[in-house]
Amino acid sequence: MATNWTAHYQQKLPDILAELRTYVEMETPTHDKQAVDHLGVFIADRFRSLGCKVDIIPQSTYGNQLRVEYGEGDEQIMVLGHFDTVKEMGTLVREPWKIEDGRAFGPGTYDMKAGIIFCYFALKTIVEENIPLKNKLVFFWNTDEEIGSVSSEKWIREEARRSKCALVIEPAAGDGSLKTSRKGGGEFVLKVTGRAAHAGNDHALGVNAIEEMAHHVIAIQSFTDYDAGTTLSVGTIRGGSVSNVVPDYVEADIVSALARVWKPRESPPS
Ligand SMILES: [Zn+2]
Repeated sequence: MATNWTAHYQQKLPDILAELRTYVEMETPTHDKQAVDHLGVFIADRFRSLGCKVDIIPQSTYGNQLRVEYGEGDEQIMVLGHFDTVKEMGTLVREPWKIEDGRAFGPGTYDMKAGIIFCYFALKTIVEENIPLKNKLVFFWNTDEEIGSVSSEKWIREEARRSKCALVIEPAAGDGSLKTSRKGGGEFVLKVTGRAAHAGNDHALGVNAIEEMAHHVIAIQSFTDYDAGTTLSVGTIRGGSVSNVVPDYVEADIVSALARVWKPRESPPS
């Protein structure tokens, strides 16, 4: 008889929320290594108690990375997540843990301590119910995702190369759409150099950097394709000195996001 998993986890909800609260109340801003490591040790113990082999990968600047292995098999599935947050230390005072209208609040609840908790409780069920797995599971919990995974990137790449697939357990988009892949994203600075000249007397000698930049702004913005999930935005622009001098320098900050999402109403991606 198939187990009713909804009922199973509904029953465990108080435990799940208590565990989430514990994580959230251990604040973990990316730049506070001591704080991040404190939760890291806690998470390591939790997964060890389920029979996992846990490697704590030491880091000098950011929190130590956690590699958690469960099960056997020639092939492995990687589950990737992070436990650092963008919220600075002390946020908890202003934004304490609370549950309101069926939602849990507190720094890092959504992004993404809940993701690690879900994995923990899913694995706990696998262990307790003796559910056989075809593949080895490797959970990689990193500590510097919010600043671009600067110290964990090489470990993540290495682990991903050994895995037949990787599941990233970041939360869904605000409307509930599941992020199924990310083609990429980036931040760019475009710099244009011209030639300064007096805007009245020597106009013909000048090369106007702002004019040149204007063409690029229009072009870059036009690369946006909502259907393809590609957006480009010129966010800030700096340049010129005074109004009567042809500007010889201008720069612009551009941000691009290239995410793919799956709306819950659609059929799941294959
Ligand atoms: Zn995140």
